[in-house]
Amino acid sequence: MNFRNKVAAIVVALALFATGTILTGCQPKGEQADVVVIGGGGAGLSAAVTAAENGAKVVLLEKMPMLGGNTLRAQTGFNAAGTKYQAEEGITDTADVHFQDTMKGGKDKNDPELVKTLTENANESLEWLNGLGTSLTKIQLLGGATNARTHAPTEGGYAGPVMIKCMEKAARDKGVEILLETKATEITVDKNGKVTGVKATDKDGKEIEFGAKAVVIATGGFGANNEMVAKYNAKLEGFDTTNHKGATGDGIVMAEAAGAALKDMEYIQIHPTVVPGKGVLIAEGMRGKGAILVNAEGKRFVQELKTRDLVSEATLEQEGKYAFVLFDQAIRDDAQLVEAKEQQSSLVSGETLEELAEKIGVPADALVETVTKYNGYVEAGEDPDFGRTKMAAKIEVGPFWAVKVTPAIHHTMAGIAINTKAQVLDTDGNAIPGLYAAGEVTGGVHGANRLGGNALSDIIVFGRIAGKEAASFGE
Ligand code: ADP
Repeated sequence: MNFRNKVAAIVVALALFATGTILTGCQPKGEQADVVVIGGGGAGLSAAVTAAENGAKVVLLEKMPMLGGNTLRAQTGFNAAGTKYQAEEGITDTADVHFQDTMKGGKDKNDPELVKTLTENANESLEWLNGLGTSLTKIQLLGGATNARTHAPTEGGYAGPVMIKCMEKAARDKGVEILLETKATEITVDKNGKVTGVKATDKDGKEIEFGAKAVVIATGGFGANNEMVAKYNAKLEGFDTTNHKGATGDGIVMAEAAGAALKDMEYIQIHPTVVPGKGVLIAEGMRGKGAILVNAEGKRFVQELKTRDLVSEATLEQEGKYAFVLFDQAIRDDAQLVEAKEQQSSLVSGETLEELAEKIGVPADALVETVTKYNGYVEAGEDPDFGRTKMAAKIEVGPFWAVKVTPAIHHTMAGIAINTKAQVLDTDGNAIPGLYAAGEVTGGVHGANRLGGNALSDIIVFGRIAGKEAASFGE
């Protein structure tokens, strides 16, 4: 090396030293926050807003180019009992009945303490959300619920997008720093097992490290990662999913590496009414408003408002493993749940039941007989065939509508073990200092089967707890 090259090398080395690159092994340092939230769906946003409300400096990392995750796809609404909106409609309901329904729906595999936390805090969390600008006030009845308690947007449409929009605004207003296309890859811990921060990669694949007093994992489920689904439940290999493509279970893998215990990993929910090959969900609320399910022979085969696992099981026993959700114009108008573009394009209509039957390829006389019989049951208030008690409406006002559906992976009840403070537990059942988790990434809240409408309550109730606890961690 001649003198000039030596000088150049020294200058470069000094520059690298000054920027810290030599010392940190080429990692550009991220910033120091009080709380880093991983994931920008409903759980992550509610945690971030709540942590900021409690005075924390918050950074939220989202791997996708947009916020929302599976929450953005949530259609019907938010379960809460004893609300003022139920009272306005004359519905008597309590947190205890909500608790009992949730335990029963989950086949008593749920952690009762977590369910208690969910059901006792749902009403207050609903008010918090509505205070941020959502208007979840319209009551719907979903499967497995003793009373109608799912709160949907007053103006109709999906609940999830409204929630995300309002929480994103609140987060930005409160100074939460939101980094999109930033994928968390590791939760860092010190030698005592206390959380120190998060490693991530930015959109150019560059590594960034964030320091934090506390970390909230809110990365959602793994329904879109069929390899992981099949690892925990081999029967579900190759199934379609309703999930967004970022639902790959990253948080579960990261938490496990940081010492977390996992819970209920085999409990993966399939939703019975999903358009084959499209992943488009036909919400349970359609059945709540009066739709029935018929098979390829034009016959009913199940009590349509049983829990999702049971309706799915019954559908998979039918010829071709599919069914049709069948309703009339009045039910469609009332429910307002199949009006999104992707759903509308899957609907088939007929001015008469015979015309509809021909279009969907089921025997017309059988379909007419099924509907006539069912309308009689609605009138009598009794369903001797399947024991359906909630029959909101007859199917009699044309045009008539049908949509072909089959079960698909919808929600992973499986996940990280937490306690009622949303602290992540290690394999000995002790809280990992500074580590919190909320939402679909956790296990235990829903047991073996989640009730419709309980996901949104779960992510907001536990997201808020995680945000509050994380903000005060170490004080
Ligand atoms: P929840 O209903 O529990 O809030 P969602 O699916 O709505 O779950 O949101 C989870 C969010 O977390 C999604 O937006 C998803 O893209 C994001 N996410 C998943 N893995 C990572 C990761 N490794 N880093 C950052 N964000 C992630």
